[in-house]
Amino acid sequence: MAKYYICIEIGGTNLRYGLVDTNFSIIKFSKIATDKFSSAKDKIEFLSDLIEPLIVEYGKKNILYVSMGLASLMNKERTVVYSSPMIKGFENIEIVKLLQSKIGIPVVIEKDVNLLLLYEIRKMQLTSDGIIAGIFLGTGLGNAICINGRIYKGNSGSACELGHIPVPGLNQECGCGKKGCFELIACGKILRELAEKHYKCDVKDIFKYYGNEKKVLDQVYYSAVAIATEITILDPSHVILGGGVIEAEGFPMEFLLQSIRENLRSPNPREAVIFIQASGDAEAGVIGAAIHASQISNY
Ligand SMILES: [Zn+2]
Repeated sequence: MAKYYICIEIGGTNLRYGLVDTNFSIIKFSKIATDKFSSAKDKIEFLSDLIEPLIVEYGKKNILYVSMGLASLMNKERTVVYSSPMIKGFENIEIVKLLQSKIGIPVVIEKDVNLLLLYEIRKMQLTSDGIIAGIFLGTGLGNAICINGRIYKGNSGSACELGHIPVPGLNQECGCGKKGCFELIACGKILRELAEKHYKCDVKDIFKYYGNEKKVLDQVYYSAVAIATEITILDPSHVILGGGVIEAEGFPMEFLLQSIRENLRSPNPREAVIFIQASGDAEAGVIGAAIHASQISNY
C-alpha cells in the first residue's frame, strides 16, 4: 500500500498544502490565503479541518507524517512555536503535541526556509557532502544551511538568523526585539516601503521601473554584504539564491553577484563558491516538508 506525507507550508501570504508520496511527487496541492489561518481563533482545529479530507480519502494508516513548514521562531526540538510575526495568535503553542493528539498522526515542524533548501538541493541533485547555503530574500532575509545533507539548527535551534546580524551605526528597532539588524536595511519589507511611499508603484514592479535607482540598488548591495558575510564564515560549495525579491521582474542578479564577490576574499572563497538561482517552484515548501519528514523517519 502506498504511503504519503501531508505537508503544509504557512508563509506570510499563502498557506500551501497537499499530499506528497514517498518518491516526493505531489499528489494533491492547494493554497489558501494565510489570512484565513491568521484570523482563525483555534489554530489546531483549523489545521485539522483543513487536512481532514486528505486523511479520509487516503486513509489515516497510510499517512506517515503531517509535516509543516513555518516562518516562526521555534524550539530546538521543533515541538513548540514561540512566535510568528506574520500570523495573529500563533505563538507559544505546543503545536506538535496538540495537533498530533487531535488527528492521531505524527506531526513534525521545521522552519520554512530549511524546507526550501532541502527541496532545491534535491531538485538540483547537488551532492550532500559539504556545506550548501540558501538565501531567500522575501519579506525578511531568510537563511538556511545544510551540512552533509542535514539542516543545521545550532545549539539552541536558532541558527541561521542572518537577517538579525547587527549593523554598526544602525539604531532602529527590529521586529525581533533588538536594534540595528541587517533586515532593517536589506529585505523585501524595505523595498515595499520604497515602492509604496517613494515611487508610488507596486513592489513587484520596483526593479522593472526603478532598478537603476541608488535607493533600490542599495537594498541589493546590503543583501550582498550579508550574503558575503555568511560565505566568509562558512566557505560553502554552493549558495542557492531565491525568494520573492530575487524572482521579481528585472531583479539585478548580476549586480547582486558582483557585489557579493567583491566582498569576498580572493582567490577563495570568491572563485570557489557556486551561485545557483532557486527554482521558485510554488510547491517547493510542500515537497521540502516531505523530504524533511523522510529524513526523520528514514522510511
Ligand atoms: Zn532583528
